[in-house]
Amino acid sequence: MPELNDPYLIARVSITENTDNAHLLEVDGICPLCGNYLLIQKGKRMNKKYQIAHIYPNSPIPHEVKELQGLERLGTNCEEFENKVALCKDCHGYYDDHKTKEEYLKLVKIKKRLLAASKAKISTSHQDVEEEIVLVINSLMSIDPVTLQKMELEYKALKISSKIEMTYSILKAKIETYVCVYFNLIKETFQNLDQENKLNFDLVASEVRSSFLKCDEEIVSKSEIFEALVKWLKSKSNGSSSEACEAVISYFVQSCEVFHEISQ
Ligand SMILES: [Zn+2]
Repeated sequence: MPELNDPYLIARVSITENTDNAHLLEVDGICPLCGNYLLIQKGKRMNKKYQIAHIYPNSPIPHEVKELQGLERLGTNCEEFENKVALCKDCHGYYDDHKTKEEYLKLVKIKKRLLAASKAKISTSHQDVEEEIVLVINSLMSIDPVTLQKMELEYKALKISSKIEMTYSILKAKIETYVCVYFNLIKETFQNLDQENKLNFDLVASEVRSSFLKCDEEIVSKSEIFEALVKWLKSKSNGSSSEACEAVISYFVQSCEVFHEISQ
């Protein structure tokens, strides 16, 4: 007889935008079951191709209660972050309809790995990263304009997809995820500081671009260039997390200072 009063099962809690973003970031924008992208760019919009799945169901049917009886559960109740994971719609549908002991344990294992990885990552502290991004950007205010005078800037609005080849699909998914989550925050922060004359956006952008050009001469792999730029930014903004710096560099990828357009 299944437990009628299972304290793990509580009423559904709707997912806030922040939590939704945290789930997306946790999996780096890629379905952890099939590897498909969870965001698809359609024109200027990013279409969400994912849903937040319960690992242990919120309202298990009798068959599920029996199948999953005695197995490890994540979190203290079914509505906690620990018991949810972003999946593409297909995998979510399949998982919900075919929940075997094996499928359940597989997802538990995946989620535990993600949780372990995210301890050093933003997923669970979206708010902190937002504050940090502002700090990173603030620290960019001290960039020396004299060294930048010769830089010429291009402000062509390029799509990410035209700048990063498919061979860098993981990098691409990561950048798209950051852009989707943080683009407006970063843009507004830059605009505000620029309007208050605390920062010259053109100078910052050209600094990022010159760093990119330096990297571009020496490094071939775009993933390595991305990493090098993140490291560079981190060195300029003491104590900031790699994630905050990755978000800012992703912003510049989107707004065109990083990576040349791929020639077709
Ligand atoms: Zn999937």
